[in-house]
Amino acid sequence: MTAESSRRVELPGGRRAGPHLPMGSGLLKVAERAGEIGASALQIFSDNPTAWRRRPEPPPEASAFRQRLAELDIGPLAIHAAYLVNLAGADDVLFERSVDVLRHELAHAPAFGARFINVHAGSHRGAGAEAGIARLVDGLSRALAESPDGPDAPLVVLENSSGGGDAIGVSVEQLAAVLETATARGLDGRIGFCLDTAHLWGAGYDIADPAVIDCVLAEFDRLLGLDRLAMIHLNDTSSGLGSRHDRHQNLGEGRIGPVGMAHLLRHPALDHVTFYLETPGMEEGFDAVNMARVGDLVAGRPLTPGPLPRPGTGPGAKPQARPTPQARPTPQTLGRAGSQAGP
Ligand SMILES: [Zn+2]
Repeated sequence: MTAESSRRVELPGGRRAGPHLPMGSGLLKVAERAGEIGASALQIFSDNPTAWRRRPEPPPEASAFRQRLAELDIGPLAIHAAYLVNLAGADDVLFERSVDVLRHELAHAPAFGARFINVHAGSHRGAGAEAGIARLVDGLSRALAESPDGPDAPLVVLENSSGGGDAIGVSVEQLAAVLETATARGLDGRIGFCLDTAHLWGAGYDIADPAVIDCVLAEFDRLLGLDRLAMIHLNDTSSGLGSRHDRHQNLGEGRIGPVGMAHLLRHPALDHVTFYLETPGMEEGFDAVNMARVGDLVAGRPLTPGPLPRPGTGPGAKPQARPTPQARPTPQTLGRAGSQAGP
């Protein structure tokens, strides 16, 4: 076993997991960091996530980055599209810009070696869910029309929403309506789906309860087919159940808690799904903490404590005491801690 493979966080059934890492330190450092913290997958932004302007060419280090990820056996790589993208809205200018950005992400994905382009289902902005879904599929169709299909073509992965701000994709039924409309436009096979656990919670799915997770996955399988579930964004949350809010929290420190998280990570129907973390404080050491917790949850161990922040600050504002052999926290006692901290 090499040093690199021994660091890797083991998951059942060959499934893979990794963090969303910010690009601040440069692409190659991001690849090294993912390897260091035991990731087997990775999500990034390909460019500035809060700007419409895209760089005309992929960055020069993209090919070395792609090669390093292959050496480290890290993948699939997901690219999260810019936050501004909204394919479901009625505003023509924003819609055209959104189609352009998605087209751009699709065109640059092969340079990074990305398998998935992750896009939020978007917001109908008052036009109604049905109109929003039609608009979304229209945008997808236009962006994909210029991206050649084939075995290496990236999959556009649509993400569920917690439901704030006229969002679509709030329920499994709405995701199924998107798929049905997309299939009618010949897009089946070019799109996949992502379930974000914090968004499910905000939308009212009580996935702290393993029985509810089983129901959600059974419904997804019945209405869309679980083979279309490509990604899970594994995030705990400090928002209220059904609040339509979305505040990501470190694994096991939010309202979903370790029981629900562990049930998803170990769920026998999800071997083909890749788990990505979008938890807070990735640049403050919480990337390693949350990756370690993926392994802890799978193995049923007490959760790795966070780094030691100044009291009352930072995303881990309620650090857990390092567990002692005498007082090992159970998943239940760890479940509801730290939910006041928000990014
Ligand atoms: Zn997400």
